[in-house]
Amino acid sequence: MSYDLISPPPLNPESQPFWDAAAKGTFLIRHCPACDQAHWYPRTICPLCHQADTEWRESPGTGTIYTWTHMRKSPRGPFALAYLELDEGPRVYVQFRPEDSENLEIGKRARIMFHPVKDGAPMMFAELI
Ligand SMILES: [Zn+2]
Repeated sequence: MSYDLISPPPLNPESQPFWDAAAKGTFLIRHCPACDQAHWYPRTICPLCHQADTEWRESPGTGTIYTWTHMRKSPRGPFALAYLELDEGPRVYVQFRPEDSENLEIGKRARIMFHPVKDGAPMMFAELI
């Protein structure tokens, strides 16, 4: 799998701060002060208590592999997808970087990282730690 074959995600005003931080290698998640919970995917309205005053918080992006699978048939080559359970609680559906895709196991530690893809835009991946 080549990083150059991956298209960057579409941007919108709600996700722009996330991708601006990603360009600097920083992982942000949304946190709700009303219920004191983090959630994924990022959205303004808390999916847990429906308050609309959630905020961005920097996260180390570390967590544990909850489950994973290999996508063996793809125009851009095989790759591995996983649910990474962040230490803050939310589970993130994320592609693992190719270097780690043959060494995944439930319970292994990993973290979110960013790598440039087509056109140099950052894309979120996970890597084993
Ligand atoms: Zn909430």
